[in-house]
Amino acid sequence: MKRFSRRKILKATVVSAGTLGGINLPKRAKSQFSWMKQPVPNTPSGPRRLPFDTNNPAIIYHPMNCERCGDCVSICRDVQTVFDHTGNFPANEVPCIHCGQCTANCWSNAVTERFELQPLYSALMENKQSSRKKKFVALVAPSVRVTLGEMFKMPPGTNVEKQTVSALRKLGFDYVFDVTFSADLTVLEEAAELEARLNKKHSGDGSQMPLFTSCCPAWVKFAQLFYPKLLPHISSCKSPIMMHGAVIKTWFASQNGLKPEDIVTVAITPCTAKKYERTLGTMNEIDFALTTRELGWWMMEFNLDPKTLEEGEFDSTLGNGSGAGDIFGNTGGVTEAVLRQVYFDLEGKEAPKDFLALSPIRGMDGVRQAEVKIGNKSLRVAVVHGTASARRLLDSPNFSSMNLDFVEVMACRGGCVGGGGLPKTQIPISDELKAQRIQGLYASDQKHQIRRSGANPEIQKLYELFLKKTGNEILHTQRKG
Ligand code: SF4
Ligand code: SF4
Repeated sequence: MKRFSRRKILKATVVSAGTLGGINLPKRAKSQFSWMKQPVPNTPSGPRRLPFDTNNPAIIYHPMNCERCGDCVSICRDVQTVFDHTGNFPANEVPCIHCGQCTANCWSNAVTERFELQPLYSALMENKQSSRKKKFVALVAPSVRVTLGEMFKMPPGTNVEKQTVSALRKLGFDYVFDVTFSADLTVLEEAAELEARLNKKHSGDGSQMPLFTSCCPAWVKFAQLFYPKLLPHISSCKSPIMMHGAVIKTWFASQNGLKPEDIVTVAITPCTAKKYERTLGTMNEIDFALTTRELGWWMMEFNLDPKTLEEGEFDSTLGNGSGAGDIFGNTGGVTEAVLRQVYFDLEGKEAPKDFLALSPIRGMDGVRQAEVKIGNKSLRVAVVHGTASARRLLDSPNFSSMNLDFVEVMACRGGCVGGGGLPKTQIPISDELKAQRIQGLYASDQKHQIRRSGANPEIQKLYELFLKKTGNEILHTQRKG
């Protein structure tokens, strides 16, 4: 049996960071982020490294690799605005939202995701020997398809969706599902929540507005730590991957005559925060969460290169999403997807073509706002990416007078295409590179025949045969609000 030791993985990390994209890497990063208003000083004034909590479910510190450059401090304090900020936690506690931006920006790989590759691989191998066979199910997040190829020297934004499916089957998975499916599910649930709150607002009670999105666990943790009063405004929807896991452990299990404990769900994500989020689950929705990097290392170990792999297809019924599901991976995508559905629900017909590309909410500005007309109604929406931008919006003295109805927040700049668990093609990852990844997702959306979540026949079937209507408790958290 192969062993994915920490040492081996760290070595692979260095290789992947050092040889990709034809970029000459300086020895060490100095945290200069061109898009920041206030450049970070080359020599941070605070401690030279973050005091990482050894119990952090998402992040792990390897002291032997640490060069004490202080980049993790700059990222966490100045970019993500977490470390050194006061909030709703004891003074001696080290706050962390598990976003993994410190891992994505650590040149010496002293800070990484908490690896789950070895325990997963061992579980797969043990299952092969066991008489009681469990089913291994992989769930692939939208942004993985336009980023994984970078680990194999493919241009950013190259869509390797079908090759990823093929690789996962070769690695031993019995089923491979596309998380764009559960992104569609999230859209229907969130659109229903928004419409209910809009109805209340129009009958005179606007106290629950705006509705904030909940699909980014790092944003939800950020709100819990720094803006707890906002929690009633945050959607109760689980994130797409957690919804997917919940449906697999219930409906899919019963349809296939399986016990939930005989299904092992594995999320393949751009996100280190999923490793934290899965620990919050109440029904073991997700058993393992691998970053895109972990999948890339695994594929490298078995010489599975997307450039030479044949194309595979996702499993059906719970496996295929609409174009709206694809764009969940980029900033503004959730808002566009939800508005497409709200348009249909309010107007009873598909949105016109120009509504399918909502240019005012596309782009890379940290906070983008738009007023969107649907029939005789107008919705005020805001799209925010990066937690510093979230602070900027929430701390603005004009925030309440903006009268927003819907606010999308993603903790990583660019949304999940800037996730902390993605290939370290550049350090720091430039907006240009993120834009290439985003372009890959919009191109995928445009290719879809079905671009509204509620029009996805697999979603329609799930509601008809199982969920019946929106609001099923397996798709929602008990979080207050
Ligand atoms: S994961 Fe995010 S919040 Fe946690 S230490 Fe790293 S940068 Fe800071
Ligand atoms: S923006 Fe995406 S990748 Fe980043 S923390 Fe949130 S869910 Fe994870």
